Formats: sequence, structure tokens, C-alpha cells
Amino acid sequence: MSPAAQTETKLYAPSADTVARAHVNAETYDRMYAASMADPEGFWAEQGKRVDWIKPFTQVKDVNYNFGEVSINWYADGTLNVAANCIDRHLATRGDQTAIIWEPDSPTEPAKHITYKELHGSVCRMANILESLGVRKGDRVVIYLPMIPEAAYAMLACARIGAIHSIVFAGFSPDALAARINGCDAKVVITADEAPRGGRKTPLKSNADAALLHCKDSVKCLVVKRTGGQTTWIADRDFDYNEMALEASDYCAPAEMGAEDPLFILYTSGSTGQPKGVVHTTGGYLVYAAMTHEITFDYHDGDIYWCTADVGWVTGHSYIVYGPLANGATTLMFEGVPTYPDAGRFWEVCAKHKVNQFYTAPTAIRALMGQGTSFVEKHDLSDLRLLGTVGEPINPEAWNWYNDVVGKGKCPIVDTWWQTETGGHLMTPLPGAHATKPGAAMKPFFGVQPVVLDPQSGVEISGNGVEGVLCIKDSWPGQMRTVWGDHERFQKTYFADYKGYYFTGDGCRRDADGDYWITGRVDDVINVSGHRMGTAEVESALVAHAAVAEAAVVGYPHEIKGQGIYCYVTLMNDREPSDELMKELRTWVRTEIGPIASPDVIQWAPGLPKTRSGKIMRRILRKIAENDFGSLGDTSTLADPSVVDDLIANRAGK
Ligand code: ATP
Ligand code: MG
Repeated sequence: MSPAAQTETKLYAPSADTVARAHVNAETYDRMYAASMADPEGFWAEQGKRVDWIKPFTQVKDVNYNFGEVSINWYADGTLNVAANCIDRHLATRGDQTAIIWEPDSPTEPAKHITYKELHGSVCRMANILESLGVRKGDRVVIYLPMIPEAAYAMLACARIGAIHSIVFAGFSPDALAARINGCDAKVVITADEAPRGGRKTPLKSNADAALLHCKDSVKCLVVKRTGGQTTWIADRDFDYNEMALEASDYCAPAEMGAEDPLFILYTSGSTGQPKGVVHTTGGYLVYAAMTHEITFDYHDGDIYWCTADVGWVTGHSYIVYGPLANGATTLMFEGVPTYPDAGRFWEVCAKHKVNQFYTAPTAIRALMGQGTSFVEKHDLSDLRLLGTVGEPINPEAWNWYNDVVGKGKCPIVDTWWQTETGGHLMTPLPGAHATKPGAAMKPFFGVQPVVLDPQSGVEISGNGVEGVLCIKDSWPGQMRTVWGDHERFQKTYFADYKGYYFTGDGCRRDADGDYWITGRVDDVINVSGHRMGTAEVESALVAHAAVAEAAVVGYPHEIKGQGIYCYVTLMNDREPSDELMKELRTWVRTEIGPIASPDVIQWAPGLPKTRSGKIMRRILRKIAENDFGSLGDTSTLADPSVVDDLIANRAGK
């Protein structure tokens, strides 16, 4: 059998220009990777110099992966401050350089350019305000803000005084917010009056009010003015940030933090179950975020870099705020959505700010691809040098569109595979070092040792042309340290199933050339008549058909085959469902992949259940396919719960 993703083996080599400019070329990659394997301590001691330490570390790595005694420490005896690394150390050389370009939801509202000097003042003021509200080193602060500069100020202000932030995406409900405030026993919640997004406004302050009804009375609420919209106010609980900022001093000394002091807590997306409160610490995280930002995106001084993620996701933490600012970069922060006021907004913003590196998610690419090429072609994208994706496997169809239509065939694409848990990229092609293959995560980052294990026996499968469960041998500095308040869950989730390894939960193939492909979640591998296949392969085949906009595939119990293939298919805007089309799609998948992958059930799905970060929640689709609607699990991170009702009502073959 030849899975769809495997048939696409065309190699896209970097241009001579890209190679010449790159921090890392093929030869440097091989040399540095070998060095990181031969002497990890020496390698990471050297990389540790990327950040400024108050007290330099003498220990590099102290890691134990044994179930029951898992403990992960990097640079443990060093001290530093993350905000000082992201701001203060740049002031002498680039105080007047733009640190953050802020692009508002509405294109008619002016953008802001915030210099490193201004960032310093704003962060210090916010830090002093938090201290005046009683926040001290080690205390937790929940941030529930739109994508406005104050979100970055709040993160860095926490880091400056040693408070631990936990960001809750502004699209989340009061219940999800309350659970996260209580989960970490936060002292303060920082929110805004309203969050404009796609021309609509979310009433953040009233959501926070509703959430706080379920929290301790002592929790304070600091409110940023964004729209000036009406809010209710509770004296002694609610505080006006803008008023306090007028009075606050613009200097606040950075706290001396241990490398292993927590920097933030962040919940995973909840694609596979109850979200986990991932804890990242100070020193190793910053070294890893800074290094991957510079090398993966080949960032150079003067470049304009844009990551479209929300700061509510780990991508926003590592690749909008901490990585770029630690490197003294200019990072763009966008408040809006890709389709407002129209499907050309991303490209308009790229042209307007002369963006050099652009980093987004496959879900956005697929959505924009469905709108045609004219929205892209209207805008001057000649400054783009590199494109990136993150969040899901990217199907070759979307990869090719991104490459041809957006990148005009001259921008390398970095398909970065990583997780909230990993803090930064673990596998990605490097732009000046590797030829890319559409849909492949290609190569491990320095110091990262991916292994492919047999899912049943847990034995390492060596050689190329193999497939199995993806684990990582040994640690890297950006790794999560624990689940907040539940070290037991941390050990059980990541270190119990495959002893001595970090278990990623993802499946993976190492192809004949030794390059890595993420095949989806391990849970998403199905076994049809004894043949194991990743559901992503069937999805890629379906999406390659001109009528199909999006597809999600799950297994369901099948009397004869063990598992059958159940496909949810969203059609292109201009196509109508019909029995002929259903037949055509079945034949299509059979020819694309093989008879074994022939769909047993196809259900037309006007929408698919997605997390707020745009990932398809296959576990819900699996329940629907299994006819088991009673136990859909945690659905609090769903973007649009009504989609689920529709799918249940129209379940095929009920
Ligand atoms: P939860 O762990 O709560 O189920 P989640 O896994 O969706 O949620 P994230 O940390 O946001 O939470 O996502 C990480 C996952 O996203 C990876 O484990 C992988 O399945 C997928 N992923 C991320 N980037 C890529 C990529 N470039 N290629 C393929 N898959 C990717
Ligand atoms: Mg996960």
C-alpha cells in the first residue's frame, strides 16, 4: 500500500540565496547536530550563552525520565530575568528599534509601532501596577486579553516580578476562564472591556464578571480599555489599568529568578482530552525559544517577522513574544482574523508592513485556499522570504498552494512540529539546510532525538522506511517540567507507556531517506482488516479532490474489518452533496491510496468540530461515528458547539 502522503516525494531545494544568507546550512546542520548528540552538556552550555544570566549556571542538565521519579532541570543553579532578556539588554543598541508592530482588527484603525524603549516603560508600569495589587514572586496571574500590546506587556510584567502567568484565549467562555483561574489559584485576572475580532466584539469584562462569581472573593480584576465599551464595575475588586498607568513609575527592577522557577502555565488545546496545565520554567525555555526562533525562521537583524497565532496558544508565547523579543526582533502582533474584512487580510498586512517571515496554521491556509487566488494576487508579497506552518499535519494540497500562490515558489516552507509541552520546535526543516517535502516535518532540531517505537512492544524500530509511535529520547531545555499541581498526571501522560522516553502521543513515519512525517495522533491510527493506517492519509486523499474543502476521518467498530473508515466531508462552497459525488469520492480514495482505504461511510458535514486554535476534535467525531453521544468528554474548548448537534442529527446510517 502506498499512503497518499508517501507518494508526494518531490523535493524542494532551497535557492542559492537562501543558503548563502542562512545561519545554518547543510554542512553546519550536520556538524552542529552531531555535536549536540556527542556532547549534549557542552552543546547546551554554549547555547546557554544566548541569554544574559545574573548568576551564570555551572550545571547544565539534570534529567531523570524514570517513571515514578521524573524530574527535569536545565541550568538549575543559574539566575536570570526573562523580561530583562527580552527588553533591557537591547536598550543600549536598539532602544529606538520597533519591538512590536501592532495591527488592529480593523484596517482603518492605525497600526502601532512600539520601540524597545517604549516597551520597557510600559512593561515596568504594568509590573508596578501588579505589585500594587499585591502580586509577588511565585503568585499566579491569569491573562484574558485580546491580541493587543497590553497582552505582551502583561506577560513580560509578570516575568519581570517573578509572577507566573496563565493566559486564557479571549474566545473562551466564562466557565473555561473560571476553571483556569481556580486551577492555579490566581490572585489577579487581567482583562479588557471588549475584544474586537472580525468586526465583532466579545464582551471580555462581562465574561470575567461571570467567571469571577465562581472564584474566591479575593481575586482582583485589572481592566484594560480597548474599545471604551460599557462595563460594570465593582469597587475594590476592579481596577482601571489605563488610569493606574498614568500614575505608575516607568521603572521596576527585574526580579532575580532561578532558572527552574516557573515562567508560565498554559493549557493544551484539549484535542485529545481534558486540557493539561503545562508548566514551563525560566532559563531552559528562554534559551530554546530564542534559539529556535532565530534558526528555524532564519531571523536576521532588521527583518519583520509575523506569527499569526494568538498569545493564548503556546505558539504565541514562544514565537510572538519570548523568542523574538529575546532576539531583539521586530515582531508583528495581529488582533484580527484572516477573513476580515475579506480573505486578503493576511496578505494585505504582509504587504503593508513588508513582512519577511510569515508563520501560520494549516487550518488558515486551507480556509484561504478555498477562497481562490485573487485575494493573494492583489497584494505585493515581494518582501516574503520564508513561510512556516504549525499545529497540524499540512496536507500536500495546502502545502503546494502555500508554496506556489503565496511564496511564488521562492520561499522555503518550514513545517514545524512541536507541542505545548515541548516549548519550541522539535522537528522542522531548516530553510538553508534542507530540501523540503510537502507535508514532512523532515529533521530533528539540535539536541532532539526522535525515535520510532513499535506501539505494542515499545521496542525502538531502527532503519528507514518505518512507522510507529513517536517518542523522544532524552530531554531538551524547552521541555515542560510538570502539569500544574499534578506531577502524577505528568508522569502518567508522558512517561508511563514507553519507559525511559518522552511519549508525544503522535504517530510518525521515517521515510526511505530518513526524513520524518507526522502521521497524526496515535489515537487516530486505525486498523482496517489488519492494515494500520493514519486517518490523515485518507483525509489528504479526500482533500485532494476538487469538490472537497475539508475532511476528517475516524475509525468505528466494523463487524468484518475490525474497524471501518468513517469520513466527514465538507464540500467547497459551490458544490452540492449528491449520491454520485459520494460514489466518486469512494472511487477517488481507492485510486489515490488503495482499496483498503475505501471509505465505508461518508457523511456530508457543513462544519467540523474544532478547538479554538482550529484543530479538528476527532475524539468527538469518533464518538458520533460509534453512535455513542452520551460521553463526548470535555467540549469546553470547542469553537462552535452547534456543529456537533448538526453532525449528530445528520449522522449517516442511523
Ligand atoms: P491536547 O494535548 O490537549 O489533546 P493538542 O495536542 O491539540 O491538545 P497542542 O499542544 O496545541 O495541543 O498541539 C500539539 C499537537 O499538534 C501535536 O502533538 C501534533 O499532533 C499537532 N501538530 C503540531 N504541529 C504539527 C505539525 N507541524 N505537523 C503535524 N502535526 C502537528
Ligand atoms: Mg497534545
